[in-house]
Amino acid sequence: MYSTQEFPVQSLVDLGKRYWLPVYKPRDLVLDHGKGARVWDTENRDYVDFGAGIAVNALGHQDPDLLAALSAQAGKLWHSSNVFYTEPPLRLAQELVQASGFAERVFLCNSGAEANEAAIKLVRKWAATQGRPPERRVIVTFRGSFHGRTLATVTATAQPKYQEGYEPLPGGFRYLDFNDATALEHAFATGDVAAVMLEPVQGEGGVLPAAPGFLKRVRELCDAHGALLVLDEIQCGMGRTGSLFAHVLDEVVPDIVTLAKALGCGFPIGAMLAGPKVATVMQLGTHGTTFGGNPMAAAVARVALGKLSSSALLAHVQRQSARLRESLVAMGAELGVFSQVRGRGLMLGAVLAEAYRGKAGDILDYAAAHGLLLLQAGPDVLRFVPPLNITDEELADGLARLRVALTAFVGQ
Ligand code: PLP
Repeated sequence: MYSTQEFPVQSLVDLGKRYWLPVYKPRDLVLDHGKGARVWDTENRDYVDFGAGIAVNALGHQDPDLLAALSAQAGKLWHSSNVFYTEPPLRLAQELVQASGFAERVFLCNSGAEANEAAIKLVRKWAATQGRPPERRVIVTFRGSFHGRTLATVTATAQPKYQEGYEPLPGGFRYLDFNDATALEHAFATGDVAAVMLEPVQGEGGVLPAAPGFLKRVRELCDAHGALLVLDEIQCGMGRTGSLFAHVLDEVVPDIVTLAKALGCGFPIGAMLAGPKVATVMQLGTHGTTFGGNPMAAAVARVALGKLSSSALLAHVQRQSARLRESLVAMGAELGVFSQVRGRGLMLGAVLAEAYRGKAGDILDYAAAHGLLLLQAGPDVLRFVPPLNITDEELADGLARLRVALTAFVGQ
């Protein structure tokens, strides 16, 4: 056994290795505190945070307004369940409806998977109220998608690696290639599709945006065949693409949108927004959660929503996106490491050049060793999802660290 005194980091890491279900492989460092787009570990080494807790900390660390909202609510009431009203989730629901421009009602929950689970249940309940038998309640999703880890959402997630060993999977899902409108036309021909569910920008699947016009075509086909359009904006929503909702850029009106991640900027919360066709389909007792709409989560999310909706913040996202993209393209050309830089806003992916395919995890190790917290999106793509309010100085510092890390990686 290590003593905490002699080997503080290693002994803490060993606790994770000994006691956590081994479903994760965190890097061997222990983060302690953060400020803005910087984080410090227990040994006081600093890191620029280009991952934001997987696109969660959209306002960086220790945002004073979020902190004030959380502290104020923590000093009043932590939890009431949905048997009684509290003010924060009531106001949050109203503000989400108003900000969305399409939704009429909101279901609050605790995570992305729960928001998507609610959306899947809502689609089925809606189809049932239309008199459709279970075999005509198919939900189409797309290869490369990621919708969560519960049994239904992992089944919606059209990637075998997340599903293997969890069979039997629930039925009622059909997978198509992302951005393939012709395949979707054929899928509708069977007459059993109740909804199409997709991420406007696929996140975990490699930071892949919907092709121009694809969402519009999906909407047209849904309308023509009496199906719902469900958009998973858990990763790409809340300002990340440079507009509060990603689908605004695609000029479509969805029936259901799911949010989580940046909605609480680090405090767990999820939401399912329901448009007019489905807003009252679920009635008393048909769905629920103990913690959903927790007043502390909702108090934080109200402030996050207000700040992430601001036109100044959204313009900042566009500006920093252009700088980040240009720098990545230049660095890729100089070092020969990237074949493509893609994505929208501050959700960018650098696709590794042929010679470095499969090496994203190794590059993350180099990045961490050089003071940069970075994510991958599969084995071949580096994912850049920094705080949306990242400053010029933080961005430049992070890019400088990336350059050193990539140079070391290439020259190894
Ligand atoms: N949907 C998308 C697009 C996601 O990126 C994620 C998480 O990465 C989820 C759903 C699941 O969210 P959670 O991990 O909060 O359950």
